[in-house]
Amino acid sequence: MDTVMAPGIDVADISTESAYLLVQKQRRFFETRQTHDLDFRIRHLRALQDAIVAQEKSILEALYKDFRKCEFEGFVTEVGFVLDDLKHTLKHLRSWAKPERVSSSLMVMPASAKVYSIPYGVSLIISPWNYPFQLLIAPLVGAIAAGNCAVLKPSELAPNTSAAMKTLIKSAFPEEYVSVVEGGVATNTRLLEQKWDYIFFTGGTEVGRIVAQAAAKNLTPTTLELGGKSPCVVDKDANLDVAARRIVWGKYLNAGQTCVAPDYLLLDKAIEQPFLEKMRATVREFYGENAEQSPDYPRIINDRHFTRLKSYLSDGDVFAGGETNAAERYIAPTILRNVSPEAPVMIDEIFGPILPIMTYSRLDEAIDFVNKRPKPLALYVFSENSDVQNTVLQNTNSGGGCVNDTVTHLTVPGLPFGGIGDSGMGGYHGKHSFDTFSHKRGILSKPSMFDIKLRYAPYKGKLKWLRKIIG
Ligand code: NAD
Repeated sequence: MDTVMAPGIDVADISTESAYLLVQKQRRFFETRQTHDLDFRIRHLRALQDAIVAQEKSILEALYKDFRKCEFEGFVTEVGFVLDDLKHTLKHLRSWAKPERVSSSLMVMPASAKVYSIPYGVSLIISPWNYPFQLLIAPLVGAIAAGNCAVLKPSELAPNTSAAMKTLIKSAFPEEYVSVVEGGVATNTRLLEQKWDYIFFTGGTEVGRIVAQAAAKNLTPTTLELGGKSPCVVDKDANLDVAARRIVWGKYLNAGQTCVAPDYLLLDKAIEQPFLEKMRATVREFYGENAEQSPDYPRIINDRHFTRLKSYLSDGDVFAGGETNAAERYIAPTILRNVSPEAPVMIDEIFGPILPIMTYSRLDEAIDFVNKRPKPLALYVFSENSDVQNTVLQNTNSGGGCVNDTVTHLTVPGLPFGGIGDSGMGGYHGKHSFDTFSHKRGILSKPSMFDIKLRYAPYKGKLKWLRKIIG
């Protein structure tokens, strides 16, 4: 066993041999076909639900220790989110799992055609640190619901939550079914060297490329939930009070460390001054005169990200915030104006509480600005004018998004959550999670009683009949 510790975590990285043995163990368990049974899946989803409820306090404490995520945000965006997803899945799983009858073609009549959702097998779920509980356990709900085994690799950058999830999973599942492997990049690399039946990765775009390359070696199907810069368009016809509240909430939630946080604003020049003043007043309303004193405002996850974020503060003029405290890894909710589109803060994914403002005079300038950049994970448009809403939606691309809100689209289980282009591929939540972790097996079933000879050789004289059927 390699004894090198991953940064931020007090756990040795897994050896290649241990990774291999774990996958083999899960594969043997999967081959017993126990996970195919719907009652088995439902029983284990309930076991997960019970374990989360029983260990909620220690999970919330771990989130606080990792980056001072307060109980309210910890519950709403992590534990409560997953419990809601579990409830929804338990309510609908029997109907989702039913084979879906589809009409068969005239060519093969009489026949019945059905789509069966079958599990892939042994899945690997890799998550980032920013919503460390939700982003590991919500995909697991889909993996279990669809009948898979799973190895979970939490982020080493949220070590307390990683340890709490190891305890949680150990208490609910045998390791041949679901297992947590803690560790850093070396652990992930060794896990990725194994042959998986499905890989579900959430993290940055560059690491997403590494995962996709590893998956390609074994032609493993993969979901990539990646990041990027999500734009937020604010039109002059927006309800400015509501827009300010919903943008400030979505941007500074988790101190901006949210994959779908509005990364930057595209603001109609006509409302620049009044809107920015409303935003500044809203920040004070939410977090007080000094957000450092607010019990509701988290910290930056580590020193590397603190230093990176602090460097962006000189990329424009600070309109609000700008204060920092390295010892606390605190960065105030900040609004930056007069920023060049070529400045680092407008090139990198910000992933922190700094909001640069871009302005436009005509809506098509804002649309061009979005379209000249990689396709974002989310796009937001604030306007009371439905023509403006439709023009923005119809002329841009994004993984998902909201009209007159930010972030909340991911709370709707009926909406697939995922990226497009550089922001990822595939989607999940609700039934989409079940579908993501299921192979859709199409089976045609024919009786032997009738055997129409039209398709068999010799073909002479048959084509004209086939043309009639197909045409
Ligand atoms: P990351 O990509 O650095 O890490 C994610 C996981 O990959 C971790 O478990 C880590 O151990 C592992 N990893 C890191 N470097 C690796 C390497 N070189 N080889 C193999 N494995 C490696 O991401 P992060 O910094 O933890 O999280 C932030 C990123 O995640 C942001 O880009 C954010 O937008 C994105 N994100 C996306 C979503 C989404 O749902 N689309 C959600 C949250 C975060």
